[in-house]
Amino acid sequence: MAEPLEALLEEGRTFPPPPEFAARALVRDRGLYERADADPEGFWAHQAAELLHWDRRWDRVLDWDLPFARWFVGGRLNVAYNCLDRHVEAGHGDQVAYLWEGEPGDRRRITYAELLAEVCRLANALRGLGVGRGDRVAIYMGMVPELPVAMLACARIGAAHSVVFGGFTADSLRDRINDAEASVLITCDGAWRRGNVVPLKEIADAAMAATPTVRHCLVLRRTGQDGVPMTEGRDRWWHDVVPDHPATCAAEPMDAEQLLFLLYTSGTTGRPKGIMHTTGGYLTQVAFTHRYVFDLHPETDVYWCTADCGWVTGHSYIVYGPLANRATSVMYEGSPDYPDKDRFWAIVERYGVTILYTAPTAIRTFMKWGTEYPERHDLSSLRLLGSVGEPINPEAWVWYWQHIGGGRCPIVDTWWQTETGAIMISPLPGLTVCKPGSATHPLPGIAVDVVDDGGRSVGVPGGGYLVLTRPWPSMLRGIWGDPQRYHDTYWSRFEGRYFAGDGAKWDADGYLWLLGRVDDIMLVSGHNISTTEVESALVDHPAVAEAAVVGKTDPITGQAVSAFVILRSGYEASDELVAELREHVARLIGPIARPKTVLFTEDLPKTRSGKIMRRLLRDVAEDHALGDTTTLADPAVVEQIKARYLTTAADEE
Ligand code: ATP
Ligand code: MG
Repeated sequence: MAEPLEALLEEGRTFPPPPEFAARALVRDRGLYERADADPEGFWAHQAAELLHWDRRWDRVLDWDLPFARWFVGGRLNVAYNCLDRHVEAGHGDQVAYLWEGEPGDRRRITYAELLAEVCRLANALRGLGVGRGDRVAIYMGMVPELPVAMLACARIGAAHSVVFGGFTADSLRDRINDAEASVLITCDGAWRRGNVVPLKEIADAAMAATPTVRHCLVLRRTGQDGVPMTEGRDRWWHDVVPDHPATCAAEPMDAEQLLFLLYTSGTTGRPKGIMHTTGGYLTQVAFTHRYVFDLHPETDVYWCTADCGWVTGHSYIVYGPLANRATSVMYEGSPDYPDKDRFWAIVERYGVTILYTAPTAIRTFMKWGTEYPERHDLSSLRLLGSVGEPINPEAWVWYWQHIGGGRCPIVDTWWQTETGAIMISPLPGLTVCKPGSATHPLPGIAVDVVDDGGRSVGVPGGGYLVLTRPWPSMLRGIWGDPQRYHDTYWSRFEGRYFAGDGAKWDADGYLWLLGRVDDIMLVSGHNISTTEVESALVDHPAVAEAAVVGKTDPITGQAVSAFVILRSGYEASDELVAELREHVARLIGPIARPKTVLFTEDLPKTRSGKIMRRLLRDVAEDHALGDTTTLADPAVVEQIKARYLTTAADEE
């Protein structure tokens, strides 16, 4: 931690892989990239054969009938078999799959053999409830080991799961169940959240009042409160049903294109979409990316992804990727500030976590809380850090590098989406020279481009829209029940290419920088200005913990930059600070990006997965009625900002 922050952040500063890390990394040369470039389909076929067990080999690697892809056509495999049985059969049954920690402090170690037995019992129980191939099972649980068990039990018998994040309301749960037409719901009596019980079963009951397809509800006892309502004939306790079933259950070979799960997007930009993922291609790419992006050494690593299983990050990088690769993972039930703000660092120290994968929203929160919390703990076991979910501001990247990684851990900034199923753009940690804030390059086997409005490549350097130019194994197979929306959302903007919805630029060295949602890009006096760049400039100022900017209609410039700023502890809002922040942005980016208004706020509207929802701030700035707020973590936040904006921000103009 010797170097001062300013030196680390110096423009153009690069971070090569630390030599100790590079010396034992899985990827140390460009061989993977070269083989993938020479023959992308052959490359993925090789990964599929090497990383997975197939009951029947595929006839064709790819059928591409734009925009519909089928990978490993004719192949058969079972995802649960690949995640569990084959490791046990190879003598690794005693290896720990999950080191689980409950929020109240209770702990469980679950080996691969134990996980397999529990998955088989539940798979048999689900069959007993009439669940079969192709049926949908909704899962609404907290972060307990039985959540991955439920996902894997579905996969074992060919049912598709639809996991709904345990923080969603009854209405959101009801809509997702009805959209998927699920026949069974698996839930818990409750979940622990900051020492309180979230009554999941009560919420599920409210949802099930209007879900005609649900025939059975299986309830896991987690929080143990009295008086949990059980509806006769529909609801059964997990502990009454599951333990009676045998601990073996044949894993049925599935078609490579069988539906593995439905998952709804975070709803950052609008109404959530029910994304469809299938079996063979999905598992190939999550296993590949988990192994190489996280440089996984299954014998020695302790891997921790802090996401919730209710998001795609949890599906791919808590459940399927790590288990396919026989990782030992930490899984944590609760909140990072309970009982105190050092909880994550206590967990890293206790379990000797070597690989940590978290989100920029968490990192910015840790920055706001201050370094005293990580400093309370020995974090020297860490050797690799990851980031996902939003662009990571360079300031946050460097803070993560310095205060969590101790200057010895590479950082993988991983760009991907619910729709892509797996990581698409990321450094390879033993090889890539990083720049803070850049996700660097597409992974081997992935082809991207940056195009202008007319779909022409902008070239290097240049900025525009991010597109994916070749099908990839874990790509979405559609939007459940809405093929037209699938076509319109992703495949109509630029012919023959997948439109990601994000802005991006190549810098002069050919590094990719993700610039935020294209719907959020501002047009000021004819110049495109990215929200990400202005926000990063604001976060670069020592007083600023977090910032969100949006474009507001302006009679002179077309749009003007409106900034919403959270201060770090110890700083006070003042007119001088407003002036200073405006100048700071003008100096770093240019006068054109200078915010016209700056509003200090305690909080920002975020999705339940922690992403800033700029479209609502735009509604505030434009004085429009607020759009869809069902995926907001805390609807009160935006109402407060709206009230303050009307009285304060208007005065500054
Ligand atoms: P919705 O599609 O419903 O609006 P969402 O896009 O937030 O919700 P996700 O699939 O969870 O749903 O998020 C994917 C998006 O997150 C990407 O399109 C991108 O905007 C952002 N993102 C994820 N990782 C990164 C990253 N490393 N750098 C920059 N942006 C990222
Ligand atoms: Mg999206």
